[in-house]
Amino acid sequence: TFRGLVLRQQEKSVQADFQNLTLDDLPDGDVLVRVRWSTLNYKDGMILNGLGRLVRQYPHVPGVDFAGEVISSDDPRYAPGDQVILTGWRVGEAHWGGYAEYARVKADWLVPMPDGLDGAHAMAIGTAGFTSMLAVMALEEQGVSPDQDGEILVTGAAGGVGSVAVGLLSNLGYRVAASTGRADTHDYLRSLGAHSILDRSELSEASKPLLSERWLGAVDSVGSTTLAHVLSEMKYHGVVAACGLAGGPDLPATVLPFLLRGVRLIGIDSVMCPYEKRVTAWKRLTQELPMDQLDAVTTKVGLRDILPWGEKILKGQVRGRLLIDVQDC
Ligand code: NAP
Repeated sequence: TFRGLVLRQQEKSVQADFQNLTLDDLPDGDVLVRVRWSTLNYKDGMILNGLGRLVRQYPHVPGVDFAGEVISSDDPRYAPGDQVILTGWRVGEAHWGGYAEYARVKADWLVPMPDGLDGAHAMAIGTAGFTSMLAVMALEEQGVSPDQDGEILVTGAAGGVGSVAVGLLSNLGYRVAASTGRADTHDYLRSLGAHSILDRSELSEASKPLLSERWLGAVDSVGSTTLAHVLSEMKYHGVVAACGLAGGPDLPATVLPFLLRGVRLIGIDSVMCPYEKRVTAWKRLTQELPMDQLDAVTTKVGLRDILPWGEKILKGQVRGRLLIDVQDC
């Protein structure tokens, strides 16, 4: 037997218990992985608290990301002993995930561990950091570059997506403006390379359709009135990568920034991201995110202690990234 966190539905809420499981309990799949590390993303917080109707079938093992070692494989691409990463593909939502010592998944969902990266750092990055890389790649694909005049705004900057985005962008030579609601994270954000810091209340009020041009690009984790406000402050032909909804899923905006300033709003989806792009993003994360910087944004938590952190992340109280030690259960 092995240990895992199992969610069960109870009336309108979910009950989470640590249990002994067997390999026979695991869902079908062609690769069996011994999970060593996982992480806690905002979405994991929603799932642990039964929110968003993300999980439709219980009992359920949550954990949208994991890293570990292949134990057995029916697919020629993977062999016992291979180190692998899994993020997305609705694992931890529609399929059992990484909050147990073993997982059985489709080979198509896995990515080989890139040279130079280990499981703990891969999960310190996790879906949140992977999404930050996709957002940076989206800005580049739209022609944004560090030699252009202007700042890149990162909203929700002290969170997981935000912290990694600030680090990546500053390492690439962009001038980064970080928006946060937490005054006690200013030094932290400067240490990651933020040039300027603004209080998120500046961006969260309802905005006029157009305000003075301010941002060359933006990576937004917040959505809602914040994203609407950011759109109205984009420079001519500015690019916004929309990543998240920590402030709400609505978008109370007008089309004027698109029509009068040629602003581009690019959606970022990490879950169904195709394999080739995943491999590219993981390789770039390995090369472009210094590991000491990643360590500085990471807090390690044992799986046994995960539940209070699941509540904290929904309240915006987690700084940076959480690495989950799955064997500590
Ligand atoms: P996180 O660590 O909780 O970061 C979210 C940050 O947003 C918080 O730290 C906080 O930053 C800010 N925030 C929270 N509540 C807010 C509010 N009411 N108004 C304004 N700002 C608020 O979560 P995460 O894991 O980085 O995820 C961030 C968002 O991206 C989530 O919505 C998540 O679902 C989404 N996401 C999407 C994808 C994708 O594929 N598109 C992948 C990963 C995550 P400050 O304290 O600095 O203000």
